[in-house]
Amino acid sequence: MTLSPTLTFNDGNTIPQLGYGVWQVEDDVAEKVVFQAFEAGFRHIDTAKIYGNESGVGRAIAGSGLKPEEIFITTKLWNADQGYESTLQAFEESMERLGLETLDMYLIHWLQPKQDKYVDTWKALIELQKRGRVKSIGVSNFTVEGLQRLIDETGVVPAINQIELHPYFSQSELRAFGASKGILTQAWSPLGQGGELLEDAVVAGIAAKHNATPAQLVIAWHLAIGNVVIPKSVTESRIHENYASLDLTLDASDIEAINGLDRSAAGAGRIGPDPAVSDFA
Ligand code: NAD
Repeated sequence: MTLSPTLTFNDGNTIPQLGYGVWQVEDDVAEKVVFQAFEAGFRHIDTAKIYGNESGVGRAIAGSGLKPEEIFITTKLWNADQGYESTLQAFEESMERLGLETLDMYLIHWLQPKQDKYVDTWKALIELQKRGRVKSIGVSNFTVEGLQRLIDETGVVPAINQIELHPYFSQSELRAFGASKGILTQAWSPLGQGGELLEDAVVAGIAAKHNATPAQLVIAWHLAIGNVVIPKSVTESRIHENYASLDLTLDASDIEAINGLDRSAAGAGRIGPDPAVSDFA
């Protein structure tokens, strides 16, 4: 079985570049599908407190027979828990549900600019890393301004920024800023949530050329441009199909053609909330 390549964080730890996300998966279903993802070859799982399935993910880990050092688990601090003490508390509760001693990566789920607690929250993540409870710390849905403020006020650069990113919304500014600071970029909704993107004629044409599916082509594009990518599916055949994207190598003209699908210059492409303005504790 092909193993996912790994990328190295600014703290020296590594992350499998291809992972498996479990947003909108019920807790009891999560146990089954994470187990299937492990069987397919995935070793990196992305969950969050707000997904309500950390327990199911924990049961899948416990039942997998895999050693902690063989897998990479991410969970996220929910908005209502932002703040120094409340973050330390929420972290322990997540660990209890996951059944883990040490977490691979903990993320602040959203910037929440109006709430304005993200610097104190970041200080709690720094403390958890110092205590050895979490190996790597990062953020999700952060803007350039939010990232810069964390760096300016704490001197600790996040390992990763997990953001909405797919060919229709390719986030070139945030990716370039991250690269300039040593922050990896992780793509959420990497398949555009499975809608129009997977029926796009350009995507379908290049996929056909490679004897691949549109989903595989899009995942291979993420891998080729250096994103960490966490596609979700609860269908076993698609879990295997998505994992097999690792075997697909794109040439420069394929990548250019997919890059050309970006709609953000026209003020379009985004599916989810805009982190610069959204505040939804
Ligand atoms: P996605 O882009 O991964 O799309 C998932 C959907 O695509 C599936 O439900 C299915 O309908 C379709 N699909 C998957 N594989 C397919 C295949 N091989 N062929 C055809 N269709 C296929 O969307 P997502 O779940 O929104 O994002 C992935 C993960 O990113 C989430 O599960 C979660 O872990 C993470 N995420 C994080 C945030 C955040 O705020 N940090 C927000 C959204 C998602």
